[in-house]
Amino acid sequence: MNPSPPVATRPLEANSFIFPFFVRMIQSLREMLYPVTCLTCGCFYTRKTDPGSAASGAPPTEFFLSESYEKAFQILLASHLCPDCASGFPPVRTPLCRSCGIMFRGGKGGDYVCRECIRSSRRLHKARAVGVYEDRLVEVIHRFKYDGKIQLARPLEILMFMAFIRHWAGDPVHLILPVPLHGERLRKRGFNQSYLLIKGWRMLTTKSHLPDFDYQVEKEILQRSVKTKSQTGLNREQRRINLKGAFTVKDPAKIFGKRVLIVDDVNTTGTTLDECAQALLGAGADRVDALTLAKAL
Ligand SMILES: [Zn+2]
Ligand SMILES: [Zn+2]
Repeated sequence: MNPSPPVATRPLEANSFIFPFFVRMIQSLREMLYPVTCLTCGCFYTRKTDPGSAASGAPPTEFFLSESYEKAFQILLASHLCPDCASGFPPVRTPLCRSCGIMFRGGKGGDYVCRECIRSSRRLHKARAVGVYEDRLVEVIHRFKYDGKIQLARPLEILMFMAFIRHWAGDPVHLILPVPLHGERLRKRGFNQSYLLIKGWRMLTTKSHLPDFDYQVEKEILQRSVKTKSQTGLNREQRRINLKGAFTVKDPAKIFGKRVLIVDDVNTTGTTLDECAQALLGAGADRVDALTLAKAL
């Protein structure tokens, strides 16, 4: 048994020092030539995304189960937002309403059903959101939805998937549908932001080795057949009138007896989701839940 001569390790040691040095030098050069602009505040910043991190591809299972939404947002959005903008995510925290998912700001203790949900029976069985519709999250959603920054879709989709795993593990749904846009608006915008938030969930479910939920993502079943005016500035009752009969179910046989989850970017007053739920329940769905990226308080 001849032990390896000590001298043989020297070139390796030198390589292990020189190689990272060159990688770092090339990175610095690239950052100088191609500075990254923050999508929300517009500043230049140094991107520090590890190519093997959660932001690129399917994150490891532990990421979905144990990471906080704030930290996950910071990691996932690091390629698109400066460190300052990436650190301002406002998560929905418990205690929240068990039915409509509204967060009781400053509240303590466990979840309970809010007064509004007790007073008026909701069509949605359970609604949940990842964040509160304020601060950075409003800006990010606006860049994504109105400025067409669809590079934000992937990190936001992963964040939504985290919430799906947390709120629907052990409470399975059969079908996941995006809130549809009217054909004319879809052509104008070029994409349905709600569909982009769930498009890759099947792949994420498979790749992350989580218990394989038996669900399908379907983008055509629920349709918006009436072109309604913008909901901005309308109160809950005006929104309800504006949206009356706007949604139809294309193929009722596909949803009959099924538990359905509808997905949207923002839940403002709950009217849109409620109207979708009415159309789905009217067509025979067993139960309708909702998940949104943001919930207005
Ligand atoms: Zn910024
Ligand atoms: Zn409620």
